[in-house]
Amino acid sequence: MTVEETAKKNPNSLIGRAYHFAENAHRGQKRKNGEPHFNHVLATAETLQQWHMDEATIAAGLFHDVVEDTSVTEKELKEKFGDEIAFLVDGVTKLSKIKYRGAEAKAENLRKMIMAISEDLRVVFIKLADRLHNMKTLYALPLAKQKRIALETSEIYAAVAYRLGMWELSGELQDLAFPYLEPEKHKWLKDQVEEEYDARRKYLETIKPLIEDALKRAGIKPLSSDFRAKRYYSLYQKLLRYDMDVKRIYDLVALRFIFKTVPECYAALGAINNLWPPLPGRIKDYIAMPKPNNYRSLHTTVIGPDGKYVEIQLRTKEMHDENEFGIAAHWFYKKSLLGDLFRKKAPLGEKLAAGLTWLRQLREWQEKRTEEGMGSEEFVESMKADFFRDRIFAITPKGEVIDLPAGATPVDFAYHIHTDVGDGAIGSKINGKIMPLDTALKSGDMVEILTQKSKKPSEDWLKFVRTSMAKDHIKAALREKKKTLLQKRPASKIEIHLTFQNRLGLTKDISDIIARSHIHIRSMNLSGQSGSKFSSCRIGCETTDKSKIEKVILKLKKLKEIKEVGYKLV
Ligand code: MN
Repeated sequence: MTVEETAKKNPNSLIGRAYHFAENAHRGQKRKNGEPHFNHVLATAETLQQWHMDEATIAAGLFHDVVEDTSVTEKELKEKFGDEIAFLVDGVTKLSKIKYRGAEAKAENLRKMIMAISEDLRVVFIKLADRLHNMKTLYALPLAKQKRIALETSEIYAAVAYRLGMWELSGELQDLAFPYLEPEKHKWLKDQVEEEYDARRKYLETIKPLIEDALKRAGIKPLSSDFRAKRYYSLYQKLLRYDMDVKRIYDLVALRFIFKTVPECYAALGAINNLWPPLPGRIKDYIAMPKPNNYRSLHTTVIGPDGKYVEIQLRTKEMHDENEFGIAAHWFYKKSLLGDLFRKKAPLGEKLAAGLTWLRQLREWQEKRTEEGMGSEEFVESMKADFFRDRIFAITPKGEVIDLPAGATPVDFAYHIHTDVGDGAIGSKINGKIMPLDTALKSGDMVEILTQKSKKPSEDWLKFVRTSMAKDHIKAALREKKKTLLQKRPASKIEIHLTFQNRLGLTKDISDIIARSHIHIRSMNLSGQSGSKFSSCRIGCETTDKSKIEKVILKLKKLKEIKEVGYKLV
């Protein structure tokens, strides 16, 4: 049931009351595209409903613009709808106050996001749903605003959605921003693929019943099926890797089947590959081996009727929801456990670990829990200890999020940006304040590293850095430093004198022996007395390491033509 249907059916329910309250508050307000403003907040709430959010979040979605844009105050909201909803609305209002203007604002924006996530992840869900609808109606805004909002969406919101494992949303946001940011590329792509999309889709429609028949014969019934057209933005990224040749993209449109259980997915794979031969190397088992971003599904590309390539994707409902909604899906599936956990105020910006690590670990824990028959309370406790264990997220002035172990310092941070930044670090600014390089960073800290060229790391750093990356780089730089010091020792000038019985190539043998010891030859004076069978030679050399000379003399003595050899410092 949609939010609107719920509200109409049960006007006295929380959703019903929130719906009518928001509708009244926004009465008469119009958006730039001429639609009532209420349509926007309702669309936001409907999205939250589709993400399986709880009622408080959906109500807060309906109220997200109320404090900002109407005469309703936070106090009034609190009195009528309680602390929890007022808190969520306040969080969204705070987040909305930051506007994206270039790199610095990006960092600030991300910092606020991380704070919001650590306070209550639901605030970020509301903001994402709000942004999704704003992007869908972006055409109505003036050009300059379109660009700014599209850029902010691509760089901040899509990135945050991605971190939260909400790939589908992240892709959709990128796709909505694409035509505003790269109008020419977007147009070129559209011209290239529009017909191709249509043709492939029509083809899939003709073969879908054939697959359904095959599944039926195998006794498998899919819960649902749909066509998944590849998004323009991700298609463009892929084309860059395929010489811009659309014909080489087999998954332009894929056919997707959703099943109840994992064994059904595999059985369906067998049935389909029985029907048409799979393209060698194109059966992808992302169930046994999920993608690094945690995506799970079975893919097969088959050669269908008329020799055309078709990609078919098979997955369970839970996998599908997780692929689409990321962490929001877990919210739904494990509501009682995770809901409590996320609602807790924690200084741990850790909750952003919400990202990949989070999902992966969660899955491991779920499996462990089933195996060991762990109770839910115990599960939450062990989970907290384990994942909130040791990660923090700090931000660069350009807005890049750096993921570090707890206790990491600005030096660790610096080496994660670049070796040169680490080696050259002389100080750090944390949230704008100069702080020592051994300060333990906290999640959400914005860190700037002050550097000096040709500065070398200090040995003391090894006492406080936490990452092996920093340790390795420091050690390497220290070794380098020792080497340079050695080289800088003043060179000693030496003169080697020899008496020998000459033969062809002997002087070359002598100079080779000296050069191999890294002693630098400056001059060589040969003097032969006519009539005598002996020649003598004085070789002017330079070395920073006098210990090498004795060795060279010994080696020279071994040459049988040499009668006498010695040296002196000059
Ligand atoms: Mn809004």
